[in-house]
Amino acid sequence: MRDLVLVVNAGSSSIKLALYRLESRGLRLDFRGLADGLGSGRGGRLRLHDADAEPVLDESLASADHAPAMDRFLEWLDEGDASGRLVAVGHRVVHGGPDRSEPVILNNRVLKELEALSPLAPLHQMHNLAPAVRLAESRPDLLQVACFDTAFHRTQPQIAQRFALPRRFAEQGVLRYGFHGLSYESIGNWLRHHRPALHRGHVVIAHLGNGASVCGLRDGRSLATSMGFTALDGLPMGTRCGSLDPGVVLYLMDREGMDARQIEDLLYRRSGLLGMSGISHDMRVLLESGESAATEAIAIYCYRAAREIASVATGIGGLDALVFTAGIGENAPAVREQICRHLRWLGVNLNVAANAGDALEIGGDGVPVLVVPTDEEGEIARQALTLAAG
Ligand code: ADP
Repeated sequence: MRDLVLVVNAGSSSIKLALYRLESRGLRLDFRGLADGLGSGRGGRLRLHDADAEPVLDESLASADHAPAMDRFLEWLDEGDASGRLVAVGHRVVHGGPDRSEPVILNNRVLKELEALSPLAPLHQMHNLAPAVRLAESRPDLLQVACFDTAFHRTQPQIAQRFALPRRFAEQGVLRYGFHGLSYESIGNWLRHHRPALHRGHVVIAHLGNGASVCGLRDGRSLATSMGFTALDGLPMGTRCGSLDPGVVLYLMDREGMDARQIEDLLYRRSGLLGMSGISHDMRVLLESGESAATEAIAIYCYRAAREIASVATGIGGLDALVFTAGIGENAPAVREQICRHLRWLGVNLNVAANAGDALEIGGDGVPVLVVPTDEEGEIARQALTLAAG
């Protein structure tokens, strides 16, 4: 019987699933799934498809909650479609706190520890953990592993992690944690295997998806990143504002009478590309729009991304390679081109034809520029398997 590793990425209204099977050459993706409409009161849906994107299951869920969605998936697994034995489940967990620099096997004690971190990630942490809690009840013998978005950045020096606030805030955990660590780790592993010389150097990775951040690596280790205490800092994103003068928040409270929840809604859901353009959060829509508000939003996005890349390059003391990844980074040559134009002074030149063709190597003469697909789920599966084997 084949050994299987399940990856679970749970948010407030959905659970993304990926099922890998272990082969002699490593992990291979077998099935992907999405349970969505959860917590909506409207009824959820579970869809599964195989590695060739052929649908294998599409049904409504009796109850639109995280637990029944996991139950139904396991039932499907037991029915034998995936024919194998589950050896580990890897969960994407946004926050590991100040001390967790590695994935960890989940038991009741660790689950409690991670639940206690939810004030640091109130929009995500409890949702991330919900399927793990359910599996611990229904399959107590199953090995479960938590893989953290923050863990990869725990190698950063103190000066990169501290805010210029009174010391007691750092002592209570108000630090620059950084996120998207699983994506950066997957790119770091790719570089180690395919470009070992670059891997040893100063590399800035721009993860440009709906969420966006940049990270500076030296010798494969994270030394600086643009996200901070929350996933709000740094670059503008689909609907998030990125770096903002904290004085604006005071202004919104004093002059607009907004409370914390209203400001949260503005900064997380109504800002970024959506807020700036008034058209869409979606880069593809903006690139095709032709309206001046869309063009302007893209220009601000690229300018701010370039500034963050240069800032992180300073944090790692150089720039030997620039890597673009995630939805926008992998698929939007016009965005890469605009960002790189701001970075010419750092020795970044694009090969226009290679960039337009989404080639792997898109740099001209000067700093190598690469487009490398992110593989966060594959990274979680690898981390979970390592602990299962360990
Ligand atoms: P998430 O952070 O939700 O995983 P993704 O990494 O999938 O997001 O990135 C989503 C973003 O990528 C959206 O802004 C989308 O418009 C953009 N994107 C995806 N494909 C393209 C494309 N071909 N051209 C331009 N933008 C694209």
